[in-house]
Amino acid sequence: MATKLSYQNNIYALQDGETVLDGLLRHGQDVPNSCKAGACQSCLMKAQGSSLDSKAQEGLKETLKAQNFFLACQCVPDEDMDVSLPSLAETTIEAEIIYKEQLCHNVVALRLKLLGEFSCRAGQYISILRNGTSVVRSYSVSNLFEQDGFLELHIRRIESGAMSVWACDEAKAGDKIHIRGPAGDCFYLALNEDQSFPLLLAGTGTGLAPLEGVVLDALKQGHKGDIHILHGALKEDDLYHVDMLQALSEEHGNLIYTPCILNRGNHKSGFHIGPLDQFVMQALEPLDKTELRTYFCGAPDMVNLLKKKAFLAGVSSKNIFSDPFLIRERKEAGSKAETALS
Ligand SMILES: Cc1cc2nc3c(=O)[nH]c(=O)nc-3n(C[C@H](O)[C@H](O)[C@H](O)COP(=O)(O)OP(=O)(O)OC[C@H]3O[C@@H](n4cnc5c(N)ncnc54)[C@H](O)[C@@H]3O)c2cc1C
Repeated sequence: MATKLSYQNNIYALQDGETVLDGLLRHGQDVPNSCKAGACQSCLMKAQGSSLDSKAQEGLKETLKAQNFFLACQCVPDEDMDVSLPSLAETTIEAEIIYKEQLCHNVVALRLKLLGEFSCRAGQYISILRNGTSVVRSYSVSNLFEQDGFLELHIRRIESGAMSVWACDEAKAGDKIHIRGPAGDCFYLALNEDQSFPLLLAGTGTGLAPLEGVVLDALKQGHKGDIHILHGALKEDDLYHVDMLQALSEEHGNLIYTPCILNRGNHKSGFHIGPLDQFVMQALEPLDKTELRTYFCGAPDMVNLLKKKAFLAGVSSKNIFSDPFLIRERKEAGSKAETALS
């Protein structure tokens, strides 16, 4: 049914089956958005007086649901709606950058001090809102916030990227931003008392961020089973935290770290050369699949491939956790944004 949206004192007609986000963008409105798949929560909006279906509010905190917030990319209205963008005060917390470090040629770490009440699990993701712009993007938490008292994010520089170029080139200690979240279920849960079940984590690029978070949490909680972490990149200088992860695996006998690079070059010994999925399947093969928990993060194509292969190898779908780093589509016709390596 064709419906109408009331937004910022104007009325916009939606086409049949069109989402609130697509309709507003089609009418030239500048609504924050990124993944368009209900994951990043960039397109959060508020409805006045309409009833919202569960899909439009999936993954939101109960406090946001109760206030009629919804995800514009997931909402196909079956009645006319009055919608607005949330104010910063309603849905975000202010944060200050307290530290910035170059992790490799195109990845920086940002540490954020939260200037309000906040809690999250290592491996979940938050959304960053760049002050003074409508840019909102998601980034995964790589550390133990409750222990460290700050959030650490790994951000890869994307050419012409609205958020990542700012984060890598301009952001500095003392800058203020706003964050929203956390969201996502990529985090460690102790399943049984002896915590002897195996974990297998794999990802490309900054997909390492949530995986590191899960590993640090598992080790802190005294996980006893084997923990395999595989990090893939195109070439050696795209990898980061190699020394840190090698040192961590020397300290913890049950942590097995495998850096993998696709392209042969002047690589250090100890690197695996070839496609990440091949090494993931080699690591997975001897593990007991009944309790094995897998975590796959980073480039969506690789995440989807690993999920499929793990499932076909016998891992229960309830034990496959993933965060594909879905990206804003390219504007140019015919390009396939999701094929990119994150
Ligand atoms: C749940 C979730 C967690 C995420 N966690 C992280 C994280 O921990 N670290 C991190 O670095 N990113 C992460 N991302 C991706 C991040 O949210 C942004 O999409 C990314 O930083 C690009 O944003 P941007 O504003 O710089 O680029 P945009 O302005 O969104 O994009 C600029 C142009 O580059 C293209 N583009 C965007 N990303 C890529 C890419 N990877 N490869 C090639 N082209 C691209 C776009 O299609 C567009 O044409 C995550 C995404 C999700 C959904």
